[in-house]
Amino acid sequence: MAAHLREAYERMLAAFGPQHWWPGESPFEIMVGAVLVQNTAWRNVERAIANLRDAAVMNPRALYDLPPAELAELIRPAGYYQVKTKRLRNLLQFIVEQYDASLEAMFRTSLQTLREQLLAVHGIGPETADAILLYAGGLPTFVVDTYAHRVLARHGWIGYDASYHEIKDYFESELPHDAALFNEYHALLVRVGKENCKRSVPLCETCPLAELLPECGVVPSF
Ligand code: SF4
Repeated sequence: MAAHLREAYERMLAAFGPQHWWPGESPFEIMVGAVLVQNTAWRNVERAIANLRDAAVMNPRALYDLPPAELAELIRPAGYYQVKTKRLRNLLQFIVEQYDASLEAMFRTSLQTLREQLLAVHGIGPETADAILLYAGGLPTFVVDTYAHRVLARHGWIGYDASYHEIKDYFESELPHDAALFNEYHALLVRVGKENCKRSVPLCETCPLAELLPECGVVPSF
């Protein structure tokens, strides 16, 4: 592992401890959460997931068989519920038609092939696909998000204009391909991003990564 990434990881882990991500009672629930969390806070997703649990439809076949209007009503607390109903149904259709509703069969597919299949599902972008693969499937793919981008760019490890796949390749070329490590690393970056590396005003003074800043200490808004 590259020395600076190892040190960043160890500092975050010492400061925050294991994050126990991703919350969910089953791989399918994690998958549903990965779609519902787009553009909303996790607490709203929790309310939608509670509705799905209460309705006893938290499995691919039952959720796919649910009339779209009923699904929309159940996931309404997650916001953008009409769009998310379509995205969720696209994903469910893929699982039902391609894998006969079996997540076990789906996650036996090679990582690269399954990633390409998920990205071909309308409404499933790279971050959602990688979250599904890593957190629901336990497959070693790094999940990139705004927090990771911001932290790395502010430390001069990547450019501010780096793309999703450039950042993903950066992590994956520097870290051992270990799903547990990718899991914890991503979760810790989200934690430091929320608590310290805020968009407009980074709180470097109290941040576990402060000693890893470049000497100039420039941390522009981002
Ligand atoms: S808050 Fe400062 S020290 Fe912490 S990750 Fe952001 S730029 Fe680095």
